[in-house]
Amino acid sequence: SALSSRRAIRPLPDQLVSQIAAGEVVERPASVVKELLENAVDSGATQLQVRLEEGGVRRILIADNGGGIPADELPFALMRHATSKIATLGELESVLTLGFRGEALASIASVSRLTLTSRTADAAHATQIDADNGAMQPAAGGAGTTVDVQHLYFNTPARRKFLKTEQTELGHCLDMIRRVALARPDIAISVHHNGKPLEHWNASDAAVRTAQVLGNDFAQARLPLDESADTVHLYGFVGLPTASRGRPDQQYFFVNGRFVRDKLLTHAVRSAYQDVLHGDRFPAYVLCLDLPPEAVDVNVHPSKIEVRFRESRAIHQLVYHAVQRVLAKQAGEQGDSLRT
Ligand code: ADP
Ligand code: MG
Repeated sequence: SALSSRRAIRPLPDQLVSQIAAGEVVERPASVVKELLENAVDSGATQLQVRLEEGGVRRILIADNGGGIPADELPFALMRHATSKIATLGELESVLTLGFRGEALASIASVSRLTLTSRTADAAHATQIDADNGAMQPAAGGAGTTVDVQHLYFNTPARRKFLKTEQTELGHCLDMIRRVALARPDIAISVHHNGKPLEHWNASDAAVRTAQVLGNDFAQARLPLDESADTVHLYGFVGLPTASRGRPDQQYFFVNGRFVRDKLLTHAVRSAYQDVLHGDRFPAYVLCLDLPPEAVDVNVHPSKIEVRFRESRAIHQLVYHAVQRVLAKQAGEQGDSLRT
């Protein structure tokens, strides 16, 4: 029985701890894409290249032109709970980077073949580290970082079984890339799949980028929104009812640059559309909420997709009224133009 075969309590080996954590952080190829893109954004990159093979299962390579990692720190980048982004609890509470848990690269490396190549601006050359054995060697390449993740879940067959088709996994990867593309129109992004170019977005402004990413239906039926109250800034575009969808697939909310899926925010926007949209339609929108980091807790879930606001009621009201006002104004103007 389980009792008679009881074994002594032992700490788990490091590699196994990372693999257990990976179950949470690295659900599918898209999770890898999300984590690597967040690191690239945090590094200050202005250009990102994403190369996927077989829906990301065979390979996910992301190259950025950001600040890079000094060669002597490369081993730490792959270590669990090692991060350059926070050092104290106080810094956690005011964190503005997308990452801070120091967990992603270690988790991904524990379920794939990962190499990390990086070069800081002042380094004579790039250095590559192989996560498998920690071996380092000089490498070619300009300033910035390239993470190459191959054969995801090669060593965890149970997890591999849950993967869907190549097209489905690719779709999820593209979802993640679109989020970053919308949050950061100032970053140029290119995407390849199986060697073929899929997307190429030049650095631009939010109006151009949202049109490129969400398409013409949205671009031709959207209203700009820009509201500030105290230290809170809400801006972006809300789609007119004609841009509404049968599925909630064009709803993007970013809090301090982080894509979130938050009940409170979704409800606030939904309520604002109440008078102009049928119940079975879903509004399309891209909204960004910037506020002091202390006013929001992003450390609610490892995926950081949920957040908690300190003043949740005030945030709900602000979002509701701002969206409602823009929609009502437009409806009023349409009414005027019909009358005149
Ligand atoms: P976190 O992002 O939470 O710090 P990660 O495991 O994702 O944890 O990354 C560990 C560290 O490696 C980061 O804190 C950062 O210093 C470095 N790093 C990872 N990716 C990049 C990158 N693309 N550019 C520069 N530094 C990076
Ligand atoms: Mg990270």
